[in-house]
Amino acid sequence: MIRVTVWNEFRHEKTKESVRKLYPEGMHALIAGFLSEQPDMTVRTATLDEPDHGLTDEVLSATDVLIWWGHTAHGEVRDDIVEKVYDRVLEGMGLIALHSAHASKIFMKLCGTRSSMLSWRENHELERLFIVNPGHPITAGLPEYFEIPQEETYGEYFNIPQPDELVFISWFSGGEVFRSGFTLTRGSGHIFYFRPGHETFPIFHQKEVQTVITNAVRWAAAPENKPAITYRRNIPLPRP
Ligand code: ZN
Repeated sequence: MIRVTVWNEFRHEKTKESVRKLYPEGMHALIAGFLSEQPDMTVRTATLDEPDHGLTDEVLSATDVLIWWGHTAHGEVRDDIVEKVYDRVLEGMGLIALHSAHASKIFMKLCGTRSSMLSWRENHELERLFIVNPGHPITAGLPEYFEIPQEETYGEYFNIPQPDELVFISWFSGGEVFRSGFTLTRGSGHIFYFRPGHETFPIFHQKEVQTVITNAVRWAAAPENKPAITYRRNIPLPRP
């Protein structure tokens, strides 16, 4: 079983009626709900206002893949918790950063760049996501492209490191393009960034988005991607 923790700062749902209507129990509850239907996943949730943000040592050590949604309260995430999440990723915990998590402390630290920097606009534009890596496990079951009828627009330049794999590129009806889905490896940890998920639209209710996240959990957890590494004081190898 893949042990998944869905983390959400869970603030917009409490303060904005339009967001509460879409996600009455929070985005984390909805995401945990569709993942829980998978026979190979056990899912828990954690939120910012819980003690230790819900990310205790016990929870982190029992998490194979952590999903992260944050936006308005990145600065309130405790640095010592970020350090613990970072260490777990290097050890092999998968991390899936959604939408505005590009500016979260943990994602920026893992990127090592100013990944908070990009262009954006809230103009209810259509987003069309193209698969640019057909056959990648994160794209299983998806058409060549799919559309989200209304989204916040993100545009290049997006200040990320060169991805290991680029999986999706978005086009927006306002004209921008954006690297919307990509993978990174840090230590033994597999990281996937996925752009959609603005809180005022029903993005996580959409089937294709749920498919991407479900696939990404399996990809990020896959043990065959994470060979055991040993470090030791070596003796000289025999000369030929
Ligand atoms: Zn947004």
